[in-house]
Amino acid sequence: MKHIFLYGPPGVGKSSVGKALAERLRLPFVDLDLEIEKSAGKTIPQIMEEQGESTFRDLETETLKRVVNESPRVVALGGGALLRVENRQYAEECGEVVFLETSIETLVERLQKDQSRRPLLSGNLNAKLNALLEQRKSHYDSFAIRVSQSGSSIREFQKTPEQIALEIQQKLNLLCVHSPDGNIYDVIVQPGGFDSLGGFLSDRKLGNLVAIFADETVANLYAEGAVKSIEGAGYKVYAISFPAGESSKKMDTVMKLWQEMLKIGLDRKSTIVALGGGVTGDLAGFAASTFMRGMNWVGVPTSLLAMVDSSLGGKTGFDLPEGKNLIGSFHSPKMVLADPRLLKTLPEAELISGMAEVVKHGIISDPELFYLCGRGLDWIKDNLEEVVKRAMAVKIKIIEEDPYERGLRASLNLGHTVGHAVELVSHFQLRHGEAVSIGMVAEAKLAERLAVASKGLSDVMADALLALGLPIQIPKELPRDEVIRAMRLDKKKSAKAIRFALPAEIGRVELVDVTDLESVLED
Ligand code: NAD
Ligand code: MG
Repeated sequence: MKHIFLYGPPGVGKSSVGKALAERLRLPFVDLDLEIEKSAGKTIPQIMEEQGESTFRDLETETLKRVVNESPRVVALGGGALLRVENRQYAEECGEVVFLETSIETLVERLQKDQSRRPLLSGNLNAKLNALLEQRKSHYDSFAIRVSQSGSSIREFQKTPEQIALEIQQKLNLLCVHSPDGNIYDVIVQPGGFDSLGGFLSDRKLGNLVAIFADETVANLYAEGAVKSIEGAGYKVYAISFPAGESSKKMDTVMKLWQEMLKIGLDRKSTIVALGGGVTGDLAGFAASTFMRGMNWVGVPTSLLAMVDSSLGGKTGFDLPEGKNLIGSFHSPKMVLADPRLLKTLPEAELISGMAEVVKHGIISDPELFYLCGRGLDWIKDNLEEVVKRAMAVKIKIIEEDPYERGLRASLNLGHTVGHAVELVSHFQLRHGEAVSIGMVAEAKLAERLAVASKGLSDVMADALLALGLPIQIPKELPRDEVIRAMRLDKKKSAKAIRFALPAEIGRVELVDVTDLESVLED
């Protein structure tokens, strides 16, 4: 890993974002201006006043060189630190420069609070800042990796330092999950990354014996490539497959997997690779969590749903004849590798179905992602890397805040209360994502009726879902009363009230208990 330099105009929040990013990546954080003050024994305004700007810039260069000589770290730079060509070259050679931007109004508001520390802006702040930005415009515009402090939904909103940090991780391909067991696992999203699977395992010093689990469809397409890459990295590797489809997600299959694992001699130090969709991930993760009381596994999701949803969060398990996902455990993987190129072979209907969860993630907390989804399926197909990364970032944020599904994680249920019921009543003729799409629109209408959302939200959502080819209405042939009954019977709900994750606006959901279920599907 290289250094990460945060750059941008004064007041944009380089230090607060830098601290959040450093914490997420477990890297040291350095504030260049503070380092300069420390070594000079004076404040920056003092240096400027007593020795002038050019002496300050010399100190800045000297300090920057000292900092980049050390191990990788997150460095918050001063607002003019890269004006010198020499400094910029240093920074770009030793790391990535991320430019933070925001509106001038926000800058003024923030700078007003601590004007004393900014000698170049003393006096009429507004005018000085405008002049400074004008003077540095072409310089600031020349940085390629940019992250905006504010997002645009129906209205502008300010992102928190943690949100911005996660967005930077996404842009630099440094996503990771802090799991509740104290470990951190990397989430790699890389077109063509699948070819380096073996290298990714050995980089993480994962066990010398590897078993790949894949359903037969995925095994036919990708097992050979996976074996080749893993063998190439010096591992002994076996591939184990089972019939494709939800009907394999049962105890029988787990039993067969355990027995195969014994036969080939896996032990606690070995590694399972879950190569496939959500069914494979859930089965492989569960087998790994229980075999000899727990062994390592890594996720290599191959369906869109698995990439943006099931591969993250460590929920594993299988179905019983009585219901889905009734048995399981939490067992985080050691790495997740999502190669968007593998989605090329995914049937289009599966891709579209997976997009429902992507839209859901946008509605929960990434309005930009939501609006990108509205561009339609062709755009999505050309931009899968960005879509996957953004959607993963939303899920990561939520599972980190609520790893055991005690509160906030319930927001991921958006569209699922009605969706599950519709899926069930259709006898699974509707795909999960199709049912969730229908569920999201129905729940948005409910949110409008309960005044949780303002009028029109359900239409905005429906437009985006339609543009992706997703259904938005409960099929006429499905009896409403059966859908309501199914909602009531859904295992996770207490009998009296059902807790809905309702969309309040694009980018925010609210958890609301609803007792009058008959009203849920009114139009
Ligand atoms: P899946 O694993 O059955 O995959 C769907 C189909 O696509 C399968 O037929 C599979 O063979 C095929 N496929 C997958 N990748 C392919 C590729 N690259 N090329 C060609 N074909 C490919 O189902 P899914 O939709 O990926 O996942 C659904 C499952 O995930 C459900 O069992 C659900 O309960 C579970 N899930 C788990 C979590 C979690 O947190 N653990 C979250 C959401 C869903
Ligand atoms: Mg789902």
